[in-house]
Formats: sequence, structure tokens, C-alpha cells
Amino acid sequence: MGMYDSIFMECKCPYCGETSRMEFQTKDLGRTLYSYEPGNSVSEFTEIFPASTPDNVVRRPLQHLNVNGQCKSAKCQEIADKLWIILQGRPSGFGAIFGAKLKLVNGIISNELFDIDPNDRCTEEYVNAHKNVWEGIYKPRI
Ligand SMILES: [Zn+2]
Repeated sequence: MGMYDSIFMECKCPYCGETSRMEFQTKDLGRTLYSYEPGNSVSEFTEIFPASTPDNVVRRPLQHLNVNGQCKSAKCQEIADKLWIILQGRPSGFGAIFGAKLKLVNGIISNELFDIDPNDRCTEEYVNAHKNVWEGIYKPRI
């Protein structure tokens, strides 16, 4: 099955600006639904060192993880629910998703995100432009 692992940590949302404990999913580790947090070691997961040659392959711990974070603040969850109705006809379990890279230091998970990549469609402008799709279907979460 196409699975993933999760890292849970505090993060400021690139959409709403709220800081909360978020789930970040990655497919770069064992894909066994493990939960990690900053400070945990994942040094057993390695990559080929860039300067390696075919005759001398050197491996090192991963330098970062490719992750997808999700904000579930009230504002972001409303946008996410409307967006999922637009995309698939019903809400999903996800909040407002954004891509990012999470820095690893000597194989240890840090709390430093970079290359944060918000989704163009996770905006009020986008979901309101498609109001005809979610109107009558969207229900606020209590
Ligand atoms: Zn948010």
C-alpha cells in the first residue's frame, strides 16, 4: 500500500498565520505509519553522497524530508472542506495542505522547515470562485 510516516510539531501556518501542532506526512522514510517528532533520529535512512563515483559510492543520512503539512485551524479547515468538495464532491480528513522540506541535522529531525510551498487553491478567493459547487453541501464543523 502507498503509505507514509508522520512528524508532529508546532508550526506557523503559511495560510492563516496560526501556530499549532500539525501533522506532516512524508514518504521519504519507511512508509510504515510511524510517528516522529523533532529530536528523533532517522539516521538509518540514507542517500548517496553527491560526490560519489560509480567506483566509490558513499552514503550519508538524509539531509531533509519532503513533507506535506496540514493546518486544521477553524479558518483553514473551512477552506479545506470547501476545496475537497470542489475536487472530489465531499470533505476529507485533511486540513489545508502545504508542501515543505524539513531539515535533518546528522540524521536528527529538526523543526526547521524550508521551501514552504502553499497550494494556490487553498484560498478563500479560489473556493469562493467555485461557490456553486459547495453551496448546499458544505457544513461547518462544530
Ligand atoms: Zn492555517
